[in-house]
Amino acid sequence: MQKKKLLFVAAHPDDAEFCAGGLISAWSKAGHSVKILCLTNGNAGHHQMLADELARRRAKEARLSAEIVDAELEIWDQADGELVASIALRKQLIGCIRAFAPDLIVTHRVADYHPDHRATGQLVQDSAYLLQVPAIVPEHAAMQRMPAILLAYDRFQDPRPHRLDWVVDTKNHIETVLSMLACHQTQVFEWLPKIMRMTVHTDNKKGWLRKFYLAKPKAVAKAASSAGASNPSAETADLAFAEAFEVSEYGGRFDPSDFNFVDKNN
Ligand SMILES: [Zn+2]
Repeated sequence: MQKKKLLFVAAHPDDAEFCAGGLISAWSKAGHSVKILCLTNGNAGHHQMLADELARRRAKEARLSAEIVDAELEIWDQADGELVASIALRKQLIGCIRAFAPDLIVTHRVADYHPDHRATGQLVQDSAYLLQVPAIVPEHAAMQRMPAILLAYDRFQDPRPHRLDWVVDTKNHIETVLSMLACHQTQVFEWLPKIMRMTVHTDNKKGWLRKFYLAKPKAVAKAASSAGASNPSAETADLAFAEAFEVSEYGGRFDPSDFNFVDKNN
């Protein structure tokens, strides 16, 4: 079998799981290759821990999570909250994408509340065309075939809402995603409840995480169902949990049938 390669370009360790954990699980269970690339080390995502200690802890958490789906993991040593779409990082990203040669890249939209998510989306967008240009980052051969680029669902409305171009039914992957997310203890049990002013009872951590996580795939399923006939992937009337992706016009042609193992695996 020719393995298909999925590259999630994330701003932070845990973004891939929150944005596309179901897709990653489906991809991996079908025997295809996944790489999670985090452009920052996540060293600002805590209310008590110091940056270096946190970065080390988050790297371990991300590794444990990636192991669940047998994903390759790479974390860049960029400070959390300070990512900028620089030429240096663009070149680094071009080299990284060429070396992995993905069939599909998933990343953030450039309209997003977090500056690191925006910078990550911008870096992928800025790299896209240049992947084929041999004179740019000549130490890595230019790509002969452009990967498709998808942008993970977000709730932001300005300047326009996310387009649900590809909807993935994730009901059979919820438990895997929850196991992955539970690895990110500094986030799901410490920092996120703190910043969201929510109380997590120590005897019901998993229950809290389930409730917190499921809100998004439920909302996406609802949005996909109401998109109705205009969205052939969302025909399933009983869609309960879903992830949705917008096709970036800067990537190669996206044909869902190239990745039909994702649907078959549901
Ligand atoms: Zn993030």
